[in-house]
Amino acid sequence: MNRAELIDQLHREEFDLCIIGAGASGAGCALDAALRGLKVVLVDSSDFSAGTSSRSTKLIHGGVRYLEQAFKNFDFAQLKQVRHGLEERHAVLANAPHLSRPLALVTPVFSWIEGLYFTIGLKIYAWFASAKDTLPKSEWLNKKTVLQRIPGLNPQLHSAVLYYDGQLDDARYALALALSAREEGVVTLNHLAVTGFEKSTNGHLQTALVTDQLTGDQHHIRAKVFLNCTGPYADHIRLAANPQIPARIRPSKGVHAVLPLDILGGKEALLIPKTPDGRVVFAIPFFDKLLLGTTDEDYNGGDAEPVLEGREVDYLLETLAPYVRQKVTPDQVTAGFGGLRPLITAVGRSTKGLVRDHEVEHDPASNLYSLLGGKWTTYRLMAKDAVDEICAALGNSNTCATESYVLVGGQGFHPDDWKNIQQETGLAEDICRHLLLNYGTKWPDLVAIIRENAETAARLAPNYPFIGAEVVYTARHEMCCTLRDFFARRIRLEIMDWQATQAAAEMAGNWLGQELGWDGKATQAHIAAYRELVAGFAKAASRL
Ligand SMILES: Cc1cc2nc3c(=O)[nH]c(=O)nc-3n(C[C@H](O)[C@H](O)[C@H](O)COP(=O)(O)OP(=O)(O)OC[C@H]3O[C@@H](n4cnc5c(N)ncnc54)[C@H](O)[C@@H]3O)c2cc1C
Repeated sequence: MNRAELIDQLHREEFDLCIIGAGASGAGCALDAALRGLKVVLVDSSDFSAGTSSRSTKLIHGGVRYLEQAFKNFDFAQLKQVRHGLEERHAVLANAPHLSRPLALVTPVFSWIEGLYFTIGLKIYAWFASAKDTLPKSEWLNKKTVLQRIPGLNPQLHSAVLYYDGQLDDARYALALALSAREEGVVTLNHLAVTGFEKSTNGHLQTALVTDQLTGDQHHIRAKVFLNCTGPYADHIRLAANPQIPARIRPSKGVHAVLPLDILGGKEALLIPKTPDGRVVFAIPFFDKLLLGTTDEDYNGGDAEPVLEGREVDYLLETLAPYVRQKVTPDQVTAGFGGLRPLITAVGRSTKGLVRDHEVEHDPASNLYSLLGGKWTTYRLMAKDAVDEICAALGNSNTCATESYVLVGGQGFHPDDWKNIQQETGLAEDICRHLLLNYGTKWPDLVAIIRENAETAARLAPNYPFIGAEVVYTARHEMCCTLRDFFARRIRLEIMDWQATQAAAEMAGNWLGQELGWDGKATQAHIAAYRELVAGFAKAASRL
């Protein structure tokens, strides 16, 4: 991943396809297109997955709520969406086994009628899953069993239903897509923003003007086709390509508050099926934290990053309160994050009522393709639809090959291999398990870094398994260019614990500075700026 060399390629080459935005959609399209033999460049104005794709609830699902809505409203389009999600679940799980896993979700019920209602619903949900799906079947648990499994639940419940969906480490999954695309020959570049276009005489896009966000340098990308995968920001690119077309995206903000895992006290997630204002809220174990979310409201903050706010913490904790034994207070929130759903506009409906489906839009005047809407779970189908259309336009008849393509780090993965890391390094079990799950079969490269310099084996934060070698590895092999790239997306400490992130910034900053050739002053400036950013998140969430 030599950035200068990759940037140099932009000047030398003309591409078949330039993909703008490297979230789940863009990185998914890049891999799909490369496997069909297209010459592809993938750019992101921030980092791989820095947008919505690192800020999701991290579920691989069809959406039980959408199933209920589909039946209640006789809405077949919505039913189709549920089916697509469930059909894709097995592929998302199988293609990156180190970054995804089955997740048991529990819904407490307060009467046997409610229990029966959910049990029937979950049977129908399971019925829509692919025949290749190997997730365990749903169960109706009696009160004693459910409280044994999740001791933190409110004992007032009658019983509970349990079912399985998938869970993924969203940021690392998108990164694995981008890294796999790179291995298949795609020029992948983060921190490179598309700021405008040049057109040929027939009005078609010919060149994208890009600015390196790290240096301010300007570059050009020449391509036959441009594909807009900028999620909630898709209208910026659509309107830059053709100011005559109407805006299509209605961003909806969703936040998560992060809490200690022992509030529930089990491995299962909690699904709160209906909040007083008609939403679904999840409390989901993610590493050793509990993600509580999400909200769903129109976002009017423009390009500003959506962050967890104090009023949203209050809302989420009020929603959780009837379901748990202990009183959870705002000072227990250790971190949080916000994201924007890239919903496609449907005039006059609240964002809760919009279906999360996708659309491949082609603007004939500019020849821009845009992949709009969708959800994480269906990223592969979305990519297939977009690349099918683009291949047809380019006269390429190769078919999609991503269904069984195992991503970087997933080939030959075995969950017990952490023991090999321990044998080679003598590191603590939690560190070895983390290295295996974060980097999959790439772990020997981290061991080599530790052998090169034993100091890199030190923990970055006392109660977490993250170590210095990861900073070095991600800078060398995963295009980690900033402290935020590292803490928010290469490891996930920023979304787990703001205090620990701030404390670890000094050590990580020094390792990163060494790798990227920053001098002492620049390193200190990077550390101070990042700490201030994280302090700002904590302030917004606490309403100080
Ligand atoms: C709170 C929340 C929870 C969710 N939970 C789930 C879930 O549990 N399961 C599920 O399946 N789905 C979930 N989703 C939906 C899912 O996360 C999104 O649909 C998906 O991540 C969108 O991916 P994307 O690639 O289209 O957009 P993004 O991930 O936002 O990617 C767009 C990228 O474009 C880049 N970009 C923007 N402008 C430019 C430019 N000018 N030049 C270059 N690059 C640019 C951005 O930096 C960004 O990285 C959730 C969404 C939200 C908001």
